[in-house]
Amino acid sequence: MSQVRVRFAPSPTGFFHIGSARTALFNWLYARHTGGVFILRIEDTDKERNSEAFLNLIYDSLRWLGMNWDEGPQVGGAFGLYRQSERGAIYTEYLEKLKAAGRTYEKEGAIWFKLIGDRYEVFDEHRKKTVTKVKVAPTVIEDQIRGRVERVEDEDFVIVRSDGNPVFHFVNVVDDIAMKITHVIRGEDHLSNTSKHVELFKAFGAPVPAFAHIPLILKQNGPGKMSKRDQGALIEEYQKRGFLPEALVNFLCLLGWNPKDDREKMAIADVIALFDLPGVNQSNARFDEKKLGHMNMTYLLELPASEFLKRATAYFQTQPAGALALVNPELFREVMLLAQPKIKGFEELPAYTAYFFTEDFVVDPKVKEKIMAKGELKARLAELIAVLPTMDFSSDSAIEEAIKALAAGKGLGFGDYQAVTRLAISGTNAGPSITSMFRVLERERVTARLVRFAVS
Ligand code: GLU
Repeated sequence: MSQVRVRFAPSPTGFFHIGSARTALFNWLYARHTGGVFILRIEDTDKERNSEAFLNLIYDSLRWLGMNWDEGPQVGGAFGLYRQSERGAIYTEYLEKLKAAGRTYEKEGAIWFKLIGDRYEVFDEHRKKTVTKVKVAPTVIEDQIRGRVERVEDEDFVIVRSDGNPVFHFVNVVDDIAMKITHVIRGEDHLSNTSKHVELFKAFGAPVPAFAHIPLILKQNGPGKMSKRDQGALIEEYQKRGFLPEALVNFLCLLGWNPKDDREKMAIADVIALFDLPGVNQSNARFDEKKLGHMNMTYLLELPASEFLKRATAYFQTQPAGALALVNPELFREVMLLAQPKIKGFEELPAYTAYFFTEDFVVDPKVKEKIMAKGELKARLAELIAVLPTMDFSSDSAIEEAIKALAAGKGLGFGDYQAVTRLAISGTNAGPSITSMFRVLERERVTARLVRFAVS
Protein backbone atom coordinates (compact mmCIF):
# COMPACT_ATOMS: atom_id res chain seq x y z
CA MET A 1 0.00 0.00 0.00
CA SER A 2 1.12 3.52 -0.69
CA GLN A 3 2.25 5.71 2.18
CA VAL A 4 -0.48 6.85 4.54
CA ARG A 5 -1.20 10.57 4.37
CA VAL A 6 -3.53 12.00 6.99
CA ARG A 7 -4.44 15.56 7.82
CA PHE A 8 -5.71 17.55 10.74
CA ALA A 9 -7.83 20.34 9.28
CA PRO A 10 -8.89 22.82 11.97
CA SER A 11 -10.64 26.11 11.37
CA PRO A 12 -9.11 28.95 13.41
CA THR A 13 -12.46 30.27 14.55
CA GLY A 14 -12.24 29.54 18.27
CA PHE A 15 -10.16 28.31 21.16
CA PHE A 16 -8.31 25.04 20.72
CA HIS A 17 -10.26 22.49 22.72
CA ILE A 18 -10.12 18.90 23.92
CA GLY A 19 -12.10 17.60 20.93
CA SER A 20 -9.79 19.19 18.38
CA ALA A 21 -6.72 17.99 20.23
CA ARG A 22 -8.07 14.44 20.29
CA THR A 23 -8.80 14.52 16.54
CA ALA A 24 -5.31 15.84 15.87
CA LEU A 25 -3.85 13.18 18.14
CA PHE A 26 -5.62 10.26 16.46
CA ASN A 27 -4.39 11.49 13.08
CA TRP A 28 -0.89 11.93 14.43
CA LEU A 29 -0.91 8.49 16.09
CA TYR A 30 -2.12 6.84 12.91
CA ALA A 31 0.60 8.55 10.87
CA ARG A 32 3.28 7.53 13.34
CA HIS A 33 1.90 3.98 13.63
CA THR A 34 1.97 3.48 9.86
CA GLY A 35 5.12 5.44 9.08
CA GLY A 36 2.89 7.88 7.23
CA VAL A 37 2.73 11.64 6.88
CA PHE A 38 0.86 13.95 9.27
CA ILE A 39 -0.33 17.11 7.55
CA LEU A 40 -1.68 20.27 9.12
CA ARG A 41 -4.12 22.09 6.89
CA ILE A 42 -5.78 25.28 8.03
CA GLU A 43 -9.39 25.62 6.90
CA ASP A 44 -9.60 29.38 7.09
CA THR A 45 -12.02 30.25 4.34
CA ASP A 46 -14.50 31.88 6.72
CA LYS A 47 -12.93 35.34 6.66
CA GLU A 48 -15.27 36.83 9.23
CA ARG A 49 -14.72 34.21 11.92
CA ASN A 50 -10.98 33.51 11.53
CA SER A 51 -8.35 35.11 13.67
CA GLU A 52 -4.56 35.04 13.74
CA ALA A 53 -4.71 34.62 17.50
CA PHE A 54 -6.71 31.40 17.18
CA LEU A 55 -4.38 30.25 14.41
CA ASN A 56 -1.33 30.75 16.60
CA LEU A 57 -3.10 28.92 19.38
CA ILE A 58 -3.44 25.89 17.08
CA TYR A 59 0.29 25.93 16.32
CA ASP A 60 1.28 26.45 19.95
CA SER A 61 -1.06 23.81 21.31
CA LEU A 62 -0.01 21.16 18.82
CA ARG A 63 3.67 21.83 19.52
CA TRP A 64 3.13 21.90 23.28
CA LEU A 65 1.43 18.49 23.04
CA GLY A 66 4.31 17.15 20.94
CA MET A 67 2.33 16.66 17.75
CA ASN A 68 4.74 17.97 15.18
CA TRP A 69 3.42 18.06 11.63
CA ASP A 70 5.39 16.81 8.65
CA GLU A 71 3.74 19.14 6.16
CA GLY A 72 1.83 22.33 6.74
CA PRO A 73 2.14 26.00 7.59
CA GLN A 74 5.54 27.00 8.99
CA VAL A 75 7.16 23.74 7.83
CA GLY A 76 6.15 23.62 4.16
CA GLY A 77 5.87 20.52 2.02
CA ALA A 78 5.44 19.42 -1.58
CA PHE A 79 1.65 19.94 -1.63
CA GLY A 80 1.50 23.45 -0.17
CA LEU A 81 0.41 26.11 0.50
CA TYR A 82 -1.42 24.67 3.47
CA ARG A 83 -3.83 27.43 4.38
CA GLN A 84 -7.05 27.39 2.41
CA SER A 85 -7.06 31.18 2.26
CA GLU A 86 -3.92 30.90 0.12
CA ARG A 87 -5.20 28.19 -2.21
CA GLY A 88 -7.72 30.13 -4.30
CA ALA A 89 -6.03 29.28 -7.60
CA ILE A 90 -6.28 25.56 -6.88
CA TYR A 91 -10.02 25.82 -6.18
CA THR A 92 -10.54 27.70 -9.46
CA GLU A 93 -8.63 25.01 -11.31
CA TYR A 94 -10.67 22.21 -9.75
CA LEU A 95 -13.91 24.06 -10.35
CA GLU A 96 -13.02 24.21 -14.04
CA LYS A 97 -12.57 20.43 -14.02
CA LEU A 98 -16.04 19.92 -12.61
CA LYS A 99 -17.51 22.39 -15.09
CA ALA A 100 -15.79 20.62 -17.98
CA ALA A 101 -17.20 17.31 -16.75
CA GLY A 102 -20.70 18.83 -16.85
CA ARG A 103 -21.18 18.46 -13.10
CA THR A 104 -22.05 22.05 -12.24
CA TYR A 105 -24.71 24.62 -13.00
CA GLU A 106 -25.49 28.14 -11.92
CA LYS A 107 -28.61 29.14 -10.07
CA GLU A 108 -29.32 32.38 -8.26
CA GLY A 109 -25.69 33.45 -8.57
CA ALA A 110 -24.34 30.34 -6.84
CA ILE A 111 -22.62 27.37 -8.42
CA TRP A 112 -24.24 24.03 -7.67
CA PHE A 113 -22.91 20.52 -7.78
CA LYS A 114 -25.06 18.33 -10.03
CA LEU A 115 -25.85 14.78 -8.96
CA ILE A 116 -26.45 12.15 -11.61
CA GLY A 117 -29.95 10.69 -11.92
CA ASP A 118 -33.53 11.52 -12.82
CA ARG A 119 -35.02 14.56 -11.15
CA TYR A 120 -38.42 14.84 -9.49
CA GLU A 121 -40.21 17.42 -7.35
CA VAL A 122 -41.46 16.70 -3.89
CA PHE A 123 -42.93 18.76 -1.06
CA ASP A 124 -40.60 18.70 1.94
CA GLU A 125 -42.74 18.80 5.10
CA HIS A 126 -39.84 19.82 7.28
CA ARG A 127 -38.66 22.75 5.18
CA LYS A 128 -42.21 23.56 4.06
CA LYS A 129 -41.33 23.93 0.39
CA THR A 130 -41.08 22.00 -2.84
CA VAL A 131 -37.59 20.66 -3.54
CA THR A 132 -35.97 18.93 -6.48
CA LYS A 133 -34.68 15.48 -5.67
CA VAL A 134 -32.55 13.12 -7.69
CA LYS A 135 -33.12 9.38 -8.02
CA VAL A 136 -29.86 7.94 -6.72
CA ALA A 137 -28.49 4.78 -5.18
CA PRO A 138 -27.37 5.28 -1.57
CA THR A 139 -23.80 6.42 -1.08
CA VAL A 140 -21.81 3.77 0.76
CA ILE A 141 -19.16 4.75 3.27
CA GLU A 142 -16.94 1.99 4.58
CA ASP A 143 -15.99 3.72 7.79
CA GLN A 144 -12.96 2.25 9.56
CA ILE A 145 -14.54 2.87 12.93
CA ARG A 146 -18.29 2.84 12.30
CA GLY A 147 -18.33 0.07 9.74
CA ARG A 148 -20.55 0.31 6.68
CA VAL A 149 -22.68 3.45 6.59
CA GLU A 150 -25.20 4.20 3.87
CA ARG A 151 -26.61 7.62 3.19
CA VAL A 152 -28.91 8.90 0.50
CA GLU A 153 -27.50 12.07 -1.02
CA ASP A 154 -30.31 13.06 -3.32
CA GLU A 155 -30.20 16.83 -3.64
CA ASP A 156 -27.79 19.01 -5.57
CA PHE A 157 -25.84 21.34 -3.31
CA VAL A 158 -24.03 24.66 -3.56
CA ILE A 159 -20.25 24.52 -3.96
CA VAL A 160 -19.56 28.22 -4.63
CA ARG A 161 -21.70 30.85 -2.94
CA SER A 162 -23.09 33.83 -4.79
CA ASP A 163 -20.39 35.99 -3.16
CA GLY A 164 -17.78 33.86 -4.95
CA ASN A 165 -16.59 31.96 -1.86
CA PRO A 166 -16.33 28.20 -2.26
CA VAL A 167 -18.10 26.23 0.47
CA PHE A 168 -16.54 23.87 2.99
CA HIS A 169 -17.52 20.62 1.22
CA PHE A 170 -15.84 21.70 -1.98
CA VAL A 171 -12.53 23.02 -0.62
CA ASN A 172 -12.29 20.18 1.87
CA VAL A 173 -12.53 17.55 -0.87
CA VAL A 174 -10.37 19.44 -3.35
CA ASP A 175 -7.62 19.69 -0.76
CA ASP A 176 -7.91 16.03 0.20
CA ILE A 177 -7.46 15.17 -3.48
CA ALA A 178 -4.69 17.68 -4.11
CA MET A 179 -2.82 16.67 -0.97
CA LYS A 180 -3.25 12.96 -1.77
CA ILE A 181 -4.93 12.24 1.57
CA THR A 182 -5.41 8.49 2.06
CA HIS A 183 -7.36 8.53 5.36
CA VAL A 184 -9.81 11.14 6.58
CA ILE A 185 -9.92 10.88 10.37
CA ARG A 186 -12.29 13.39 11.95
CA GLY A 187 -15.10 13.89 14.42
CA GLU A 188 -18.36 12.06 14.06
CA ASP A 189 -20.14 15.37 13.56
CA HIS A 190 -18.79 15.24 9.99
CA LEU A 191 -20.30 11.86 9.16
CA SER A 192 -23.38 13.62 7.83
CA ASN A 193 -21.21 15.52 5.33
CA THR A 194 -19.38 12.48 4.08
CA SER A 195 -21.85 11.37 1.42
CA LYS A 196 -21.51 14.80 -0.21
CA HIS A 197 -17.77 14.43 -0.04
CA VAL A 198 -17.79 10.94 -1.52
CA GLU A 199 -19.92 12.14 -4.44
CA LEU A 200 -17.46 14.97 -5.06
CA PHE A 201 -14.48 12.61 -5.02
CA LYS A 202 -16.23 10.43 -7.58
CA ALA A 203 -17.13 13.41 -9.77
CA PHE A 204 -13.47 14.38 -9.88
CA GLY A 205 -12.56 10.80 -10.81
CA ALA A 206 -10.37 10.73 -7.71
CA PRO A 207 -9.86 7.76 -5.40
CA VAL A 208 -12.12 7.99 -2.35
CA PRO A 209 -10.01 8.04 0.82
CA ALA A 210 -10.73 5.77 3.75
CA PHE A 211 -12.89 7.44 6.38
CA ALA A 212 -12.72 7.10 10.13
CA HIS A 213 -15.23 9.07 12.16
CA ILE A 214 -14.28 9.34 15.80
CA PRO A 215 -17.12 9.20 18.36
CA LEU A 216 -18.01 12.31 20.28
CA ILE A 217 -16.69 13.39 23.63
CA LEU A 218 -19.53 13.77 26.09
CA LYS A 219 -19.46 16.44 28.73
CA GLN A 220 -18.49 15.41 32.23
CA ASN A 221 -21.97 15.67 33.69
CA GLY A 222 -25.20 15.05 31.91
CA PRO A 223 -25.98 14.21 28.35
CA GLY A 224 -24.64 15.99 25.32
CA LYS A 225 -21.45 16.70 23.53
CA MET A 226 -18.66 18.57 25.23
CA SER A 227 -18.38 22.07 23.84
CA LYS A 228 -15.71 24.72 23.91
CA ARG A 229 -17.67 26.44 26.64
CA ASP A 230 -17.63 23.49 29.01
CA GLN A 231 -15.44 23.49 32.09
CA GLY A 232 -12.09 21.90 31.31
CA ALA A 233 -12.48 22.13 27.54
CA LEU A 234 -9.63 24.43 26.58
CA ILE A 235 -6.11 23.13 25.99
CA GLU A 236 -4.65 26.56 26.74
CA GLU A 237 -6.00 26.34 30.29
CA TYR A 238 -4.08 23.15 31.00
CA GLN A 239 -0.92 24.73 29.63
CA LYS A 240 -1.38 27.77 31.88
CA ARG A 241 -2.11 25.60 34.89
CA GLY A 242 1.14 23.77 34.42
CA PHE A 243 -0.22 20.39 33.41
CA LEU A 244 2.33 18.04 31.94
CA PRO A 245 1.67 17.70 28.21
CA GLU A 246 2.60 14.01 28.33
CA ALA A 247 -0.15 13.43 30.89
CA LEU A 248 -2.73 15.31 28.84
CA VAL A 249 -1.75 13.39 25.70
CA ASN A 250 -1.98 10.09 27.56
CA PHE A 251 -5.43 11.08 28.81
CA LEU A 252 -6.52 12.07 25.28
CA CYS A 253 -5.33 8.72 23.89
CA LEU A 254 -7.79 7.02 26.21
CA LEU A 255 -10.73 9.17 25.11
CA GLY A 256 -12.11 6.67 22.65
CA TRP A 257 -9.22 4.24 22.45
CA ASN A 258 -7.65 1.75 24.83
CA PRO A 259 -4.89 -0.84 24.64
CA LYS A 260 -7.36 -3.71 25.26
CA ASP A 261 -5.90 -4.34 28.70
CA ASP A 262 -6.23 -2.20 31.82
CA ARG A 263 -3.13 -0.11 31.29
CA GLU A 264 -3.76 3.60 31.66
CA LYS A 265 -0.39 5.25 32.00
CA MET A 266 1.38 4.44 28.77
CA ALA A 267 4.50 5.72 27.08
CA ILE A 268 3.59 7.37 23.81
CA ALA A 269 5.84 4.93 21.94
CA ASP A 270 3.69 2.07 23.23
CA VAL A 271 0.51 3.81 22.13
CA ILE A 272 1.99 4.41 18.67
CA ALA A 273 2.88 0.73 18.39
CA LEU A 274 -0.67 -0.39 19.26
CA PHE A 275 -2.86 2.34 17.83
CA ASP A 276 -5.09 1.43 14.92
CA LEU A 277 -8.35 2.79 13.55
CA PRO A 278 -10.50 -0.33 14.02
CA GLY A 279 -9.37 -0.20 17.67
CA VAL A 280 -11.12 3.14 18.21
CA ASN A 281 -14.33 2.68 20.22
CA GLN A 282 -17.66 3.10 18.51
CA SER A 283 -19.29 4.45 21.62
CA ASN A 284 -18.91 8.00 22.83
CA ALA A 285 -16.21 8.82 25.36
CA ARG A 286 -16.95 10.76 28.51
CA PHE A 287 -14.67 13.55 29.62
CA ASP A 288 -13.51 13.07 33.20
CA GLU A 289 -11.45 15.88 34.65
CA LYS A 290 -10.67 13.91 37.82
CA LYS A 291 -9.11 11.19 35.73
CA LEU A 292 -7.02 13.79 33.93
CA GLY A 293 -5.89 15.24 37.26
CA HIS A 294 -4.96 11.78 38.45
CA MET A 295 -3.03 11.10 35.26
CA ASN A 296 -1.15 14.36 35.72
CA MET A 297 -0.26 13.43 39.29
CA THR A 298 1.02 10.03 38.19
CA TYR A 299 3.30 11.68 35.66
CA LEU A 300 4.48 14.29 38.17
CA LEU A 301 5.42 11.64 40.71
CA GLU A 302 7.47 9.74 38.19
CA LEU A 303 9.38 12.71 36.81
CA PRO A 304 13.08 12.60 37.68
CA ALA A 305 13.79 15.29 40.29
CA SER A 306 15.94 17.31 37.90
CA GLU A 307 13.17 17.33 35.32
CA PHE A 308 10.57 18.25 37.92
CA LEU A 309 12.79 21.13 38.99
CA LYS A 310 13.26 22.34 35.43
CA ARG A 311 9.53 22.35 34.71
CA ALA A 312 8.61 23.81 38.09
CA THR A 313 11.06 26.65 37.42
CA ALA A 314 9.45 27.29 34.05
CA TYR A 315 6.05 27.24 35.69
CA PHE A 316 6.98 29.69 38.46
CA GLN A 317 8.42 32.02 35.83
CA THR A 318 4.86 32.47 34.54
CA GLN A 319 3.37 33.04 38.00
CA PRO A 320 3.21 36.09 40.28
CA ALA A 321 4.65 33.90 43.05
CA GLY A 322 7.76 33.33 40.94
CA ALA A 323 9.24 36.70 41.90
CA LEU A 324 9.84 35.55 45.48
CA ALA A 325 10.22 31.84 44.92
CA LEU A 326 13.05 32.05 42.42
CA VAL A 327 15.22 34.50 44.35
CA ASN A 328 17.24 31.75 46.02
CA PRO A 329 17.76 28.82 43.62
CA GLU A 330 19.15 26.53 46.31
CA LEU A 331 16.15 27.07 48.58
CA PHE A 332 13.82 26.71 45.59
CA ARG A 333 15.41 23.39 44.71
CA GLU A 334 15.04 22.01 48.24
CA VAL A 335 11.43 23.14 48.47
CA MET A 336 10.55 21.59 45.12
CA LEU A 337 12.05 18.27 46.20
CA LEU A 338 9.76 18.35 49.24
CA ALA A 339 6.72 19.33 47.20
CA GLN A 340 7.00 16.86 44.31
CA PRO A 341 5.49 13.86 46.10
CA LYS A 342 2.80 15.98 47.76
CA ILE A 343 1.08 17.87 44.96
CA LYS A 344 -1.35 16.84 42.24
CA GLY A 345 -0.33 19.51 39.75
CA PHE A 346 1.95 22.52 39.35
CA GLU A 347 -0.96 24.85 39.94
CA GLU A 348 -0.91 23.77 43.60
CA LEU A 349 2.75 24.72 44.01
CA PRO A 350 2.52 28.47 44.69
CA ALA A 351 0.07 28.04 47.56
CA TYR A 352 1.68 24.85 48.83
CA THR A 353 5.14 26.40 49.07
CA ALA A 354 4.49 30.11 49.69
CA TYR A 355 5.66 30.22 53.32
CA PHE A 356 9.09 28.87 52.42
CA PHE A 357 9.87 31.99 50.44
CA THR A 358 8.63 34.77 52.70
CA GLU A 359 8.32 35.67 56.37
CA ASP A 360 5.12 37.40 55.47
CA PHE A 361 2.90 34.32 55.31
CA VAL A 362 -0.63 34.15 56.68
CA VAL A 363 -1.55 32.06 59.67
CA ASP A 364 -4.89 30.43 58.98
CA PRO A 365 -7.10 31.70 61.87
CA LYS A 366 -9.42 28.66 61.86
CA VAL A 367 -6.53 26.23 61.94
CA LYS A 368 -4.89 28.27 64.68
CA GLU A 369 -8.00 28.25 66.82
CA LYS A 370 -8.39 24.52 66.46
CA ILE A 371 -4.80 23.68 67.25
CA MET A 372 -4.36 26.12 70.12
CA ALA A 373 -7.49 24.79 71.83
CA LYS A 374 -5.57 21.62 72.54
CA GLY A 375 -3.63 22.82 75.58
CA GLU A 376 -0.69 24.91 76.72
CA LEU A 377 1.12 24.70 73.42
CA LYS A 378 3.14 27.89 73.71
CA ALA A 379 5.05 26.14 76.49
CA ARG A 380 6.08 23.50 73.93
CA LEU A 381 7.36 26.23 71.64
CA ALA A 382 9.38 27.80 74.43
CA GLU A 383 10.99 24.44 75.20
CA LEU A 384 11.81 23.95 71.55
CA ILE A 385 13.23 27.45 71.16
CA ALA A 386 15.53 26.77 74.09
CA VAL A 387 17.20 23.80 72.39
CA LEU A 388 17.36 25.25 68.86
CA PRO A 389 20.80 26.91 69.24
CA THR A 390 22.46 23.53 69.81
CA MET A 391 20.20 21.40 67.58
CA ASP A 392 21.83 19.45 64.76
CA PHE A 393 20.10 20.69 61.57
CA SER A 394 22.11 18.55 59.16
CA SER A 395 19.44 15.94 58.39
CA ASP A 396 15.76 15.15 58.93
CA SER A 397 16.66 12.27 61.21
CA ALA A 398 19.03 14.37 63.35
CA ILE A 399 16.25 16.94 63.79
CA GLU A 400 13.75 14.23 64.65
CA GLU A 401 16.11 12.73 67.22
CA ALA A 402 16.61 16.11 68.86
CA ILE A 403 12.88 16.80 69.15
CA LYS A 404 12.26 13.29 70.47
CA ALA A 405 14.99 13.70 73.08
CA LEU A 406 13.51 17.02 74.16
CA ALA A 407 10.04 15.46 74.40
CA ALA A 408 11.27 12.42 76.34
CA GLY A 409 12.90 14.72 78.90
CA LYS A 410 9.49 16.28 79.54
CA GLY A 411 7.65 12.97 79.61
CA LEU A 412 6.06 13.81 76.26
CA GLY A 413 6.26 12.59 72.67
CA PHE A 414 7.23 14.05 69.28
CA GLY A 415 3.55 14.45 68.46
CA ASP A 416 3.05 16.96 71.27
CA TYR A 417 5.31 19.42 69.45
CA GLN A 418 4.26 18.74 65.91
CA ALA A 419 1.04 20.65 65.15
CA VAL A 420 1.94 23.86 66.96
CA THR A 421 5.40 23.89 65.44
CA ARG A 422 3.99 23.39 61.97
CA LEU A 423 1.48 26.16 62.58
CA ALA A 424 4.22 28.53 63.79
CA ILE A 425 6.57 27.97 60.86
CA SER A 426 4.03 27.58 58.04
CA GLY A 427 0.74 29.05 59.22
CA THR A 428 -1.14 25.90 58.34
CA ASN A 429 -1.77 22.29 59.33
CA ALA A 430 -0.65 20.47 56.19
CA GLY A 431 2.59 20.21 54.33
CA PRO A 432 5.87 18.34 54.36
CA SER A 433 7.15 16.90 57.65
CA ILE A 434 8.25 19.49 60.19
CA THR A 435 11.72 17.94 60.24
CA SER A 436 12.08 18.55 56.49
CA MET A 437 10.78 22.06 56.94
CA PHE A 438 13.35 22.73 59.69
CA ARG A 439 16.18 21.46 57.51
CA VAL A 440 15.13 23.49 54.47
CA LEU A 441 14.24 26.70 56.34
CA GLU A 442 17.40 26.43 58.48
CA ARG A 443 18.01 27.41 62.07
CA GLU A 444 17.77 31.17 61.78
CA ARG A 445 14.41 31.30 60.04
CA VAL A 446 12.93 28.52 62.18
CA THR A 447 13.97 30.30 65.35
CA ALA A 448 12.61 33.65 64.23
CA ARG A 449 9.27 32.14 63.25
CA LEU A 450 8.86 30.17 66.47
CA VAL A 451 9.73 33.20 68.58
CA ARG A 452 7.38 35.45 66.64
CA PHE A 453 4.53 33.01 67.07
CA ALA A 454 5.27 32.31 70.73
CA VAL A 455 5.04 36.00 71.64
CA SER A 456 2.01 36.68 69.47
N1 GLU B 1 -12.44 22.27 9.21
C1 GLU B 1 -13.19 21.13 9.58
C2 GLU B 1 -13.43 21.17 11.08
O1 GLU B 1 -12.74 21.90 11.78
C3 GLU B 1 -12.43 19.88 9.21
C4 GLU B 1 -13.27 18.75 8.75
C5 GLU B 1 -12.44 17.58 8.29
O2 GLU B 1 -11.53 17.15 9.04
O3 GLU B 1 -12.66 17.12 7.18
O4 GLU B 1 -14.30 20.54 11.59
